[in-house]
Amino acid sequence: MSAFQKETVLSVKHWTDSLFSFTATRDPGFRFQNGQFAMIGLEVEGRPLVRAYSMASANHEEALEFFSIKVADGPLTSRLQKIREGDTILVGRKATGTLITGNLIPGKRLLLLSTGTGLAPFASLIKDPDVYENYETIILAHGCRQVSELAYGERLVASLRQDELFGPMIEDKLIYYPTVTREPFRNRGRITDLIASNQLFAEIGLSGLDLETDRVMLCGSPGMLEELHSIFTGRGFTEGNHSEPGHFVIEKAFVER
Ligand SMILES: Cc1cc2nc3c(=O)[nH]c(=O)nc-3n(C[C@H](O)[C@H](O)[C@H](O)COP(=O)(O)OP(=O)(O)OC[C@H]3O[C@@H](n4cnc5c(N)ncnc54)[C@H](O)[C@@H]3O)c2cc1C
Repeated sequence: MSAFQKETVLSVKHWTDSLFSFTATRDPGFRFQNGQFAMIGLEVEGRPLVRAYSMASANHEEALEFFSIKVADGPLTSRLQKIREGDTILVGRKATGTLITGNLIPGKRLLLLSTGTGLAPFASLIKDPDVYENYETIILAHGCRQVSELAYGERLVASLRQDELFGPMIEDKLIYYPTVTREPFRNRGRITDLIASNQLFAEIGLSGLDLETDRVMLCGSPGMLEELHSIFTGRGFTEGNHSEPGHFVIEKAFVER
């Protein structure tokens, strides 16, 4: 049996010159935990060309969804950005990853801190009813350079708020904090600075970072992760993993090659 399942693209949406999302059929046997990633890609010259991708869909959803970068000379995304409805993609049969709630010590507030396509695993987690059951407050922060790069997240949160099932569940619990660094916008600045200075908490009217109550998931650029890792460990937060849960967990949104 191949390590990859062939799936059919159901829809594609281009958000900016560098971002798109797409949905695809899901094999009923493909199981994952919200927040995990799998290897996905295309068959090129008879061989799989795959990269790690977080599932942006939740595990209760019938279709798979992915939120992707377009790297002009990227081996996969220079091709993947051209997919259309009806095309075939490859999806690895095994999902994995550290951004799962089981890797965190129980807490009251869940901070989901992301930059760029690092939003993808959190798109899955904010559609997980258990997250709302287990935490009093969920803060989703998403940092980008330009306002247009926030569109996927803004649309997702707005659609959840309008949803018959999710609307009432998330109403008082989900706080969405989009921020940009290179254009005027209602929230400005890097997530790292906003956390280190407690400005993010002040602006949403909540008390500052607290080791007792706060649990954190991080997904972004290598630089953002390095800075936040040092901020959190400096405040006594421990990093969790599959063998021992902690106060925070980390996943790279991409690897510098
Ligand atoms: C655990 C994990 C989960 C990932 N999940 C996603 C996801 O959900 N969506 C997604 O688009 N990518 C994700 N990636 C990155 C993805 O695996 C590929 O790197 C990306 O699809 C580009 O592939 P490529 O072959 O075109 O270029 P690559 O050769 O893989 O990358 C070329 C260069 O492009 C830059 N780059 C790659 N990916 C990104 C990105 N996402 N954002 C900004 N710059 C980038 C880096 O500088 C990299 O060196 C993930 C990576 C990891 C490790």
